[in-house]
Amino acid sequence: MLTSGLHSAIYLQCALVLQHPREARDLGRSIAQRFRDENIQTVASPAIGGLIIGHEVARALGARFIWTERENGRMVLRRGFSVSPGERVLVVEDVVTTGGSTRETVAALKANGANVVAAASIIDRSSGKAEVGVPRVALVTLDVPSVDPAGCEACKRGEPAIKPGSRKDK
Ligand SMILES: [Zn+2]
Repeated sequence: MLTSGLHSAIYLQCALVLQHPREARDLGRSIAQRFRDENIQTVASPAIGGLIIGHEVARALGARFIWTERENGRMVLRRGFSVSPGERVLVVEDVVTTGGSTRETVAALKANGANVVAAASIIDRSSGKAEVGVPRVALVTLDVPSVDPAGCEACKRGEPAIKPGSRKDK
């Protein structure tokens, strides 16, 4: 069971590469390279998945780093984080499946007046289909089948759906 609620035979756990700071740094630099000329002032990521990679992208861009998190189910800025009107923000995630977390983070930032320039992730497992409301790039684009639980063949065979991710509020 993915964070999105969809079922898939394949789970991509970016934490396993991001546990190595040098790899995280290099992935951050690779994403940052795509936005070198975009005058990004702030990188923002949805917690928890986007925290490490977003921080590394911000470091590589010389930008500020903030994050959004869920409060009563809604993705919001907390901890005194704020954005200025028109502030140029890049949203960074680890993995995009449906784009839900990124889309909600983009919306939260726009609601606070930011100019969200683009979104980026290490992995896009939607084969490029996920829409997040701003231009989006990924270091690696995969077409990994994920299905609605109602149409899941593994569930029909009685195989238990397990959730290796970390989000507990869904
Ligand atoms: Zn299933």
